[in-house]
Amino acid sequence: MIDYHLHVVAHGDRPMTVENILQYCEVAHERGIRQMGITEHDRYLDDIDLAAFQEARELSQDVELRLGIEIDFVPGQEERMDRDATALPYDYVIGSVHRVDNEEVDHPDHLEIYEKWETYDLYEAYYRNVREAALSGRFEILGHPDLIKIFRKFPDRDITPMLEETADAIAESGIVVDVNAAGLRKPIGEIYPSKDFLQMLHRRGVPIILSSDAHAADQVAAGYDKSLKLVHDVGYREVVTFKDRERGALSL
Ligand SMILES: [Zn+2]
Ligand SMILES: [Zn+2]
Repeated sequence: MIDYHLHVVAHGDRPMTVENILQYCEVAHERGIRQMGITEHDRYLDDIDLAAFQEARELSQDVELRLGIEIDFVPGQEERMDRDATALPYDYVIGSVHRVDNEEVDHPDHLEIYEKWETYDLYEAYYRNVREAALSGRFEILGHPDLIKIFRKFPDRDITPMLEETADAIAESGIVVDVNAAGLRKPIGEIYPSKDFLQMLHRRGVPIILSSDAHAADQVAAGYDKSLKLVHDVGYREVVTFKDRERGALSL
């Protein structure tokens, strides 16, 4: 199994040292992970210690290490995104939408955005960004594609057509979708994407990776019992892997 989206530095919580990386690897190994990808947020790009990563990759016996990055997709910041996405020899690049009009939708201390916007309009703006991120061609993987549900603030109108349109764009783009268990640790209490959305993606042949989005070692592969059941129930039998930006596959 793989865990392809997680943070060692997290939000500047700890340095990227060989020891810290190997601690994540140890948990990964205990939980049956064969490949683990470190994908810091791009705003912590300067905290990525490539030498420490490379040394840990040499030392790690049971878990193959990959290096990625999670780019915060913001329309209009193409130059910053391109710079960050090419700064290091990544195995793959994740593009994630965390913002609408450059304001975060997933920050528990900044919920004003949910007051400011009519919820349906906010969802529309969010999914417009998701489609744009997928179709931008910048990223191998689309991070947690329905993050906007995080605080359980749902529109009172049916969003199925919005999700179908987004699934069409994702399929057209060829991007791989992140099935991300972090939602289980948030107010929504479910995996990103939802089962309905994942079914739309599966029907269109969209490939997936699995991740915990861990921000601490004990969160590596957390929630995977539920992720594995979800993807299996929907019909997935393999996940995508990356090395040096080349795509492979692993059976579930
Ligand atoms: Zn994210
Ligand atoms: Zn993340």
